[in-house]
Amino acid sequence: MLNKLILVINCGSSSLKFSIINILEKKILLFGLAENFNKKYSCITWNFNNIKKKKIFYSKIDHKIILNFIINVLLKENLLYNNIIAVGHRIVHGGEKFINSVVITKKVLKAIKNASIFAPLHNPIQLIGIQEIIKILPHLEGKQVAVFDTAFHQTIPEKAYLYALPIKFYKKYKIRRYGAHGTSYRYVIKIASKILNVSLNTLNCISCHLGNGSSITAIKNGKSVDTSMGLTPLEGLVMGTRCGDIDPAIIFYMFNILNLKINEIYKILTEKSGMLGLTNITSDFRYIENNYFKDLKIKKATDVFIHRLSKYIASYSILMEKKIDAIIFTGGIGENSVLIREKTIEKLKILNIFVDKKLNNEIKFGKTGFINTINSIPILVIPTNEELMIAQDTFNIITNK
Ligand code: ADP
Repeated sequence: MLNKLILVINCGSSSLKFSIINILEKKILLFGLAENFNKKYSCITWNFNNIKKKKIFYSKIDHKIILNFIINVLLKENLLYNNIIAVGHRIVHGGEKFINSVVITKKVLKAIKNASIFAPLHNPIQLIGIQEIIKILPHLEGKQVAVFDTAFHQTIPEKAYLYALPIKFYKKYKIRRYGAHGTSYRYVIKIASKILNVSLNTLNCISCHLGNGSSITAIKNGKSVDTSMGLTPLEGLVMGTRCGDIDPAIIFYMFNILNLKINEIYKILTEKSGMLGLTNITSDFRYIENNYFKDLKIKKATDVFIHRLSKYIASYSILMEKKIDAIIFTGGIGENSVLIREKTIEKLKILNIFVDKKLNNEIKFGKTGFINTINSIPILVIPTNEELMIAQDTFNIITNK
């Protein structure tokens, strides 16, 4: 049945991911990625009915050109155009304004614009995406929904979201912890609640979203109570190219003593640090996993990653107070890296968390399942599906569910 399709748009700073989801069957029909915007050559790849296709653009492209291509060429060619009933947009930052997904109105557009100061590479581009869709699909007015990465974390209590800065920086400038990956967390806890047979509003778990960007969230009674990303996605765990937690004084040392420019320092912390910076080779965990026992540089860097991750899991365990229903692993690394899961869990014996090596080896490449021993707190691997979550929110909101 094709008559209820949701278009999901995820505008990145120089890329655009999209998918068409049959919401009643919860199936992704078409998905794709356009990347390398503003370069000499860019390309878009897409997958429809398990057939992969690619188009190269020999001139500079941008988000508007790609959205027009997706809607006026891909959707029309594949006879999907007339069945699109709504559009869901991933929005990186909703500030304190949004605690849920919302229908996009003029007021919402303004609030997304206001939150751009916290996500300058994403929110303005995502606004362009929304405005272009309004132009291309005017009949879907009132059927466009914004789904915020930050919304899930708006339940975090003040004691966990305040930084110990002069309070005016929060009161006047709204500098605080906002977190990210909220859509992924909402998706995996929904699945975990079903698997564990624990109702969502009593579910206590620690969820690790480990991808190029990594974060961890303490979820109590189904609500986020603390998370490792901060004002921006730079804080917290060691990531692919981001440093995560560092002493802020390092920035002054780089600036005052090493005479680095402030933009250079930002680039170092966001693009040249993390696993790439520590290994000086790669941020790709497939390579890292294959070389952990062969290359001392890789081992040392990975041990920093594991140390930080296990430290966060242990510290979040005290926030659960009475019970931990599960530790959850998701994201490209969490879903696939047998090594990272094993080495991290091995550090958590004191919390009664033990890995079953055989199960750990089996649950990867899109599989969902437990990887713990029988006497351990449950450890679940759950492949995330942010697109499906966005489509579900969009459908629920436009049908008032
Ligand atoms: P993003 O944050 O961009 O959404 P992903 O969730 O796709 O990132 O995760 C990307 C990371 O997952 C990369 O570091 C990649 O190396 C890692 N990864 C993907 N597949 C595997 C695998 N089979 N084994 C280990 N790591 C993997």
